[in-house]
Amino acid sequence: MTSIVLFGPPGAGKGTQATRITQSTGLPQVSTGDMLRAAVKKGTPTGIAAKQFMDAGQLVPDSIIIDLIKERVKEPDAANGLMFDGFPRTVPQAEALANITEVTHVIAIEVPDSKIVERICGRYSCSSCGAVFHDKFNPTSTKGICDECGSGELKRRADDNETTVKQRLNAYHQQTSPLADWYENRGIFHRIDGDREIDNITQDILLALK
Ligand code: ADP
Ligand code: ADP
Ligand code: ZN
Repeated sequence: MTSIVLFGPPGAGKGTQATRITQSTGLPQVSTGDMLRAAVKKGTPTGIAAKQFMDAGQLVPDSIIIDLIKERVKEPDAANGLMFDGFPRTVPQAEALANITEVTHVIAIEVPDSKIVERICGRYSCSSCGAVFHDKFNPTSTKGICDECGSGELKRRADDNETTVKQRLNAYHQQTSPLADWYENRGIFHRIDGDREIDNITQDILLALK
């Protein structure tokens, strides 16, 4: 059983790498951000409660996130492990996860703050298959057409603007980065330089997982 946590600031490349690691390992990707956006779109009670925090660039309360994860791990595809993308983001979330399943690897993708705004503000993704692109660093090969599925509409996230990114980076430094020590003390923490070509980062992550 392998359970991986992809850790890092907003825009570090967690989602981009998660898709590739899923292709190599077969571990299902669990993105709390994607789950919350789906809940907001559907207008579920979770979505209604989470939206105000997401719009403000603040973390959604731990109880909401932990309930989502408790439900997700019950699904049959979770039996051989999962790859968590953007979860846990606080020490209480990490403590809750430790009671649910054993985390075997934490992959910390490190990107300096100075690069984050440009990464986030240039991000767009496919509304059909979820593939993530960037205006400058990873554009679609044909403008307006998703490379992966060829059919989805390409969209920007409402919270991917400069003001909200600064809030999200603040939340990362204050509430999420303390988790690095928490995991480092448990000997499962791998630091990866995320300020390089996407393929090189994937190779290093796969090495760390061996
Ligand atoms: P996260 O899931 O950590 O928020 P994403 O995977 O969505 O990050 O990446 C944020 C943006 O940066 C996307 O537009 C993506 O295409 C781009 N990106 C991802 N990895 C890199 C990289 N190594 N170099 C440059 N841009 C990248
Ligand atoms: P990014 O990696 O670009 O920050 P995500 O898609 O992971 O974006 O998260 C988007 C928003 O969803 C966050 O700003 C936060 O409001 C909320 N969110 C996602 N995951 C969590 C989590 N584990 N704990 C609290 N809030 C979360
Ligand atoms: Zn697509």
